[in-house]
Amino acid sequence: MVESKRALVTGGSRGIGRAIALELAGAGYHVIVNYLSGKEAAEETLAAIRESGGSGEIIGFDVTDSKAAETAMETLLFEDAPLEILVNNAGIAADGLFIMMPESDWDKVVATTLKGFYNVTKPALKAMVPRKRGAVVSIASVAGIMGNRGQANYAAAKAGLIGASRSVASEVARLGIRVNVVAPGLIETGMIEKAPVQQIKSMIPMNRIGKPEEVAKTVRFLCSDDASYITGQVISVNGGMF
Ligand code: NAP
Repeated sequence: MVESKRALVTGGSRGIGRAIALELAGAGYHVIVNYLSGKEAAEETLAAIRESGGSGEIIGFDVTDSKAAETAMETLLFEDAPLEILVNNAGIAADGLFIMMPESDWDKVVATTLKGFYNVTKPALKAMVPRKRGAVVSIASVAGIMGNRGQANYAAAKAGLIGASRSVASEVARLGIRVNVVAPGLIETGMIEKAPVQQIKSMIPMNRIGKPEEVAKTVRFLCSDDASYITGQVISVNGGMF
């Protein structure tokens, strides 16, 4: 089936990525839902997309694995319809005080965000450039802007994602491609299961945790032509945290 507009959401199987996948499907995109190991969750997301009248597909690959990502992206980019939207959402946390942090926790968190950005964004842009059309949105975090106790690895990765996105944005702006970042605060997903939510809530001016859909709507806006003059920006969705 030839689809007119396609969007890839990394880590689209659950949490914020799932909400983004549903939101983009609602905006008319054929959504490619990437996952790492949770195939069932990805299938459930795809079923939800179809139930609401949208179209999509699932594709499992590890964004940190250069070869796997290359093969997956080649397959995706070979299809008839162009890839118009990329959302770099896949991310993990492995929290702990920096002086106690195992090297493996540093490496895997940084790799998922930054190697993932490299492995997926580069081939996606190569496909967007000849068409002079496309949008990339990457999901950073308030931690990448402010830093956060116990999250040196995560904050470093997300700050790096912001720097990489702004740099790439300036490289491709003249080619009609926009690259932006959304930086959520605390959002209700599996990732914050172990976080001291009550304690953190008191630091949020709106005094509540955000919903994945609130992030997803911002992503949809940045992907749309309504955001046609916005590139290289970081939009915070965090209930008023500075
Ligand atoms: P989540 O519920 O834990 O979901 C993470 C998603 O990423 C899953 O779909 C997971 O797939 C996928 N993933 C993880 N590693 C991957 C890899 N190497 N390759 C491909 N997919 C991978 O997390 P979330 O809370 O929705 O977070 C989504 C994004 O928002 C992340 O970048 C996170 O850092 C950011 N964020 C979250 C919050 C928050 O409060 N929740 C705040 C700020 C920023 P599997 O299920 O298959 O493993």
